[in-house]
Amino acid sequence: MPRPSALTELNDLLAKRPEELKQAKAEGRKVVGYFCSYIPEEIIWALGMIPLRLCRAGNNQAVSVGATYLTSNACPFACSCVGLKKDGRDGYFKLIDYVVDAPACLQMRRVLEVWEKYFEVRVLSLALPRQFYSVRGQAYFAQAVEQLSRELAHDQGINLDSARLTQAVELFNDIRRQQRWLYDGLKQASFALDWRQVLGVIRAGLLLDREQYLQLLHELVAQLKSQAPDNTPARKARLLIAGAMLAPGDDKLVNILAEVGAEVVMDELCTGSRSIYGEIKQPDINSIAQRYLSNIPCGSLPYPKLDDDPRHKHLRRLLTEYRIEGVIYYTLRFCDAYNFKAGHMRHLITSMGISFLHISSDYTNADVGQMRTRVEAFLESIQHRT
Ligand code: SF4
Ligand code: SF4
Repeated sequence: MPRPSALTELNDLLAKRPEELKQAKAEGRKVVGYFCSYIPEEIIWALGMIPLRLCRAGNNQAVSVGATYLTSNACPFACSCVGLKKDGRDGYFKLIDYVVDAPACLQMRRVLEVWEKYFEVRVLSLALPRQFYSVRGQAYFAQAVEQLSRELAHDQGINLDSARLTQAVELFNDIRRQQRWLYDGLKQASFALDWRQVLGVIRAGLLLDREQYLQLLHELVAQLKSQAPDNTPARKARLLIAGAMLAPGDDKLVNILAEVGAEVVMDELCTGSRSIYGEIKQPDINSIAQRYLSNIPCGSLPYPKLDDDPRHKHLRRLLTEYRIEGVIYYTLRFCDAYNFKAGHMRHLITSMGISFLHISSDYTNADVGQMRTRVEAFLESIQHRT
């Protein structure tokens, strides 16, 4: 099956992006970084600034440096967010004018504190309500988003223009629509892209110029629609990866899965499919805030009733729609939020007759062999069941 040319173009653009951002900054545009998936990019974009998700991982050297500012019991992702900033060489981290964030977990709050205190980065914080599912929580968040948009507009010395906000909402809604189409394609065994390629497309969208990105998404979708389906018979266990952070650069598990020929067809990850759902109904602050807060929640937010936890409900739906036979639940060491919930996750998944494997790791290579053995044994156990 020929590789769609839009994918190659996407990679070319990614390679040029740091240089392009440097140029944009030289022309006076501000680059606004964020870590967690609760930041309404629409507002940043509508105000003429460039949103950039700070999502880099896998560098153990950066983890060691970050740990000296946080603690050696902090998760590797949080540590590397600090270490990369301290190091100052990362093509994206060094370009940030300031950070806007709504940290969902405590460790990300510490990261912001360190950036502000030791690296003198200006941080605008968006408060996430603990009871995110309640009406009160929604109202609170809408107010916080309103306040943030006022601060950003003040910084830019302009007012948030309603025509521009409408344009932003249309742009980001359309991006998510095209991304959903790609993820939907993975339901069919004959789809011409595999999950790893789709994940690469989603990740590219966190960094590229969003209008250019949308144009390429449309091209990619058109190319895929015009291609004959890939009818190579595949009879492998269909897997889903769930968990917390599997950020670009943290490739150990993904590489092992590719090496052993595993067939991942879906994810439920903050850096993957979790960002593609939810349509903003109206181009106003309330509707924008509502989409972000009522999207599939980060597992570090507390939800008291397991049965109707929206993340669990969503996961159950994915398991059925994607005909999943095995789930790999990937967590990082010292990520209390997601490790704490591993037991619930195991119960939820195995009670549906689906195999479950919990892998907790870090950015070292110490456990590569062990991880590969566990993944192979997991795949064999699924094959024996079917
Ligand atoms: S998993 Fe949650 S806490 Fe971690 S980066 Fe994503 S939104 Fe933030
Ligand atoms: S949710 Fe877990 S993996 Fe993500 S930043 Fe927080 S502690 Fe780290």
